Amino acid sequence: MGPIKTDVIIVGEGITGLGIAYWLKKRGINVAVLAKEGVAGGTMKSVKDQGFLYETGANTALETSPHFKELVSELKLESEFIYANPEGNNRYILRNGILNSMPLGAGSFFFTKLFSLAAKIRLLKEPFIGRAEKEESIAEFVERRLGREFLDYAIDPFVAGVFAGKTEQLSVRSAFPKLYALEEKYGGLVKGMIKGAQERKQRAEKAKDRAETFSFVSGMQMLPQAICSSLGKAVYFNAKVTGVRNLTTDREEPSDEPDARRYLVEYLHHGKEEEIEGDVVVFAVPAYDAAPIIKPISKETAHVLSSIYYSPVVSLFLGVRREDIGHPLDGFGFLIPSKEQRKILGCLWNSCLFGNRAPSGMAALNAFIGGARQPELTDLSDEQIIQMTLDELKSIMQFSGKAVYLNITRWHKSIPQYEIGYQSKMDCLTRFEESNPGIVLAGNYRGGISVGDCIQNAYERAGDISTQILSTR
Ligand SMILES: Cc1cc2nc3c(=O)[nH]c(=O)nc-3n(C[C@H](O)[C@H](O)[C@H](O)COP(=O)(O)OP(=O)(O)OC[C@H]3O[C@@H](n4cnc5c(N)ncnc54)[C@H](O)[C@@H]3O)c2cc1C
Repeated sequence: MGPIKTDVIIVGEGITGLGIAYWLKKRGINVAVLAKEGVAGGTMKSVKDQGFLYETGANTALETSPHFKELVSELKLESEFIYANPEGNNRYILRNGILNSMPLGAGSFFFTKLFSLAAKIRLLKEPFIGRAEKEESIAEFVERRLGREFLDYAIDPFVAGVFAGKTEQLSVRSAFPKLYALEEKYGGLVKGMIKGAQERKQRAEKAKDRAETFSFVSGMQMLPQAICSSLGKAVYFNAKVTGVRNLTTDREEPSDEPDARRYLVEYLHHGKEEEIEGDVVVFAVPAYDAAPIIKPISKETAHVLSSIYYSPVVSLFLGVRREDIGHPLDGFGFLIPSKEQRKILGCLWNSCLFGNRAPSGMAALNAFIGGARQPELTDLSDEQIIQMTLDELKSIMQFSGKAVYLNITRWHKSIPQYEIGYQSKMDCLTRFEESNPGIVLAGNYRGGISVGDCIQNAYERAGDISTQILSTR
């Protein structure tokens, strides 16, 4: 018996791979998803235990893409879809050991104690600052346009919360392309926001800062699981891809059809060697997992893929008694600027965001440790991490008891860091795809790390692939 045959082989059972598979299938294209693990979701994993519901990876998503609602409706997930409580808009930042609400409007910005009067006045200079002359880090860009204090107490903690990254290392152009575009296209942030809002209104698009936070009653993993169920037998679990071969170029006799190309993907299915053949192979896996598979085809591309740095993070879930916390827990949680020199990056108050995350009388908290800021802390033992986090929570949010439930998830390689020079790496990947038609490199290291970005990119990649395939039929 020869290899299984299909149109598109998708490697990876994260939201990117499953999203691409879903939209290809919807366009009538045969797909096969090769999933290394035994469950769908990749970084999106939800756990229900002892009355707590928590995430080991992505906690929430922002509704930045219209395709979320499309998926929810087509997968009949309406009763599962939940927006975060409005209190979740309240986000705290630590300054001098005190939690301050991040101001949401001009009025609250004027009165906030998070920024000094000098920092507030400094913002008024922004419209008069010109464009950058070289590629800048987020730190350089923000300090130049908005001032040091805004960098330290707004952007630095935000970058730790989103990327588990450092503002000095990340490229503003690659990590925050929309922010960068405001300067590039309109000459400044204020000018750009005004003009951009008008343009978005015409396109009926939501901006990220306005997009709402959501999850699912059963947790974030519900979405990849529902996509996976809709794909039925097209998903092969416990199937780790080990190699790919271009059957067209390997052929001894040249093909009569110049456009004809076939790829053979080798994988270990429950430990047994198997093969599958298709016109297109999509690698929707982390860059470091794609590198060894791509290496026999292009050493240079493999080198670029393995050079992408993923910061390490520990995610510590804590179930605690509500009465043991002095803080009202009236928000999303808090983030900590580097300047505060603390041992955690921040903590989410999950039970404030969504109703069903903790049993009655309990609170569900999720602290993050390490990141590119303090990678060495992720090497500490479980006991040290727990004690260190409890000490921080005691001092920051007046926590006075013990955790009644704990779970540690260690992400040795959590989130790809879009560092200075990232665009040239991405250009190299695009050149590789152009010279190897039929191989697609996708995933959160290209075009954005959020779940919303992954969904939007999956939709667009599926559109490109289906156009390519349908044009040859
Ligand atoms: C701790 C943490 C918290 C986060 N929090 C948020 C958040 O709150 N909101 C948000 O929007 N985003 C968040 N993110 C980011 C977001 O979750 C990810 O960027 C996104 O889920 C990545 O999806 P993906 O499909 O691109 O990759 P992945 O989820 O990494 O999936 C890739 C899959 O490929 C599989 N694979 C690897 N190698 C092979 C192989 N050889 N053969 C077959 N399969 C293979 C893996 O098993 C994996 O399942 C968070 C990320 C982390 C790590």
